Amino acid sequence: MNVIYPLAVPKGRRLRCEVCDAPAERVCRACTVTYYCGVVHQRADWSSIHEKICQLLIPVRTSMPFYNSEEERQHGLQQLQQRQRHLIEFCYTVAQKYLFEDRHEDAVPAALHSLRFRINVYGLSSVELVPAYLLLAEASLGLGRIVQAEEYLSQAQWTVLKSTECSYATHSLLHRNLGLLYMAKENYDEARYHLANDIYFASCAFGTEDIRTSGGYFHLANIFYGLKKLDLADTLYTKVSEIWNKFLDNHHQVLSQAHIQQIDLLGEHFETDTGLDEAQEAEAIRILTSILKIRELTSDKSPQKTIFVLKTLVMLYYLMMNSSKAQEYATRALNLAKERQLSVCEQSTIQNLLSLIKAEDAHPVT
Ligand SMILES: [Zn+2]
Ligand SMILES: [Zn+2]
Repeated sequence: MNVIYPLAVPKGRRLRCEVCDAPAERVCRACTVTYYCGVVHQRADWSSIHEKICQLLIPVRTSMPFYNSEEERQHGLQQLQQRQRHLIEFCYTVAQKYLFEDRHEDAVPAALHSLRFRINVYGLSSVELVPAYLLLAEASLGLGRIVQAEEYLSQAQWTVLKSTECSYATHSLLHRNLGLLYMAKENYDEARYHLANDIYFASCAFGTEDIRTSGGYFHLANIFYGLKKLDLADTLYTKVSEIWNKFLDNHHQVLSQAHIQQIDLLGEHFETDTGLDEAQEAEAIRILTSILKIRELTSDKSPQKTIFVLKTLVMLYYLMMNSSKAQEYATRALNLAKERQLSVCEQSTIQNLLSLIKAEDAHPVT
């Protein structure tokens, strides 16, 4: 799939390959509205996103029925837009999740879908296209295609420049991806400049201590770590761990309070028991396990830092209801605390955590 994907999609593209836009020779038999140049791209699309949205594409891609009145026609249009908006968000989250899992090849078809539906709904010059360009840039970077990544990034930059209504959140994402690009090119000064901007805009949008701001700190920490500026890296890794720990801890408390008071949280926008969407969960795992690896190298000197990250991972997996992983990290934390002869208090906190997970595993709370 080493091609530049088309940014503009010509009308009447139905008979072109979903993945590379070449003339199509195959059709998905399940939905009959999706075409491919051959079996390779069909398989790639299926395992990335098509399996999940095959049936959802039918109402979006079949021609509009004949309407009896203007009112009906408007209603039909609105419904179509709503379906496309849903697909935009869904494909975006799936692609982002793949990126956090290092599945760059899989991210491409899902990201392309998000881009296509954005073009349909918002038009070719809308700033709404930027998040999808950035996904494609990040996937290209992950696949080692730097030139392609640069093309997507300049497309994103150009769109932002022309726009008067670009949100802080989008500015933050743009700078984060430019930071990643310059990291890949080993231009660390430029990378730092963009990551500092990422943190600034994310802080304006969400606050300095928000999980959505933590990604910028994390990448900046990685740069300092690579440059052997270990004190700076250490401070930033601590900040990132604390942000995630606090988020998960707060969320856990909200859930237990709700449980005690029997409040139904369904209406409260919690998509899962972690309060995170799938992509954010993948990001949390990615960030925390990377920091853990680095912390473990210095466990001799400062075991508390390793234990802190382990405990944060325990909380994450506990809320994700993956009790075997939660137990695994809790056991590792407990063993380290005993081995390094940490205070009895610290040991018993971890012991309590472990007992809680084991108890709930035996008698799940419903
Ligand atoms: Zn193709
Ligand atoms: Zn299909």
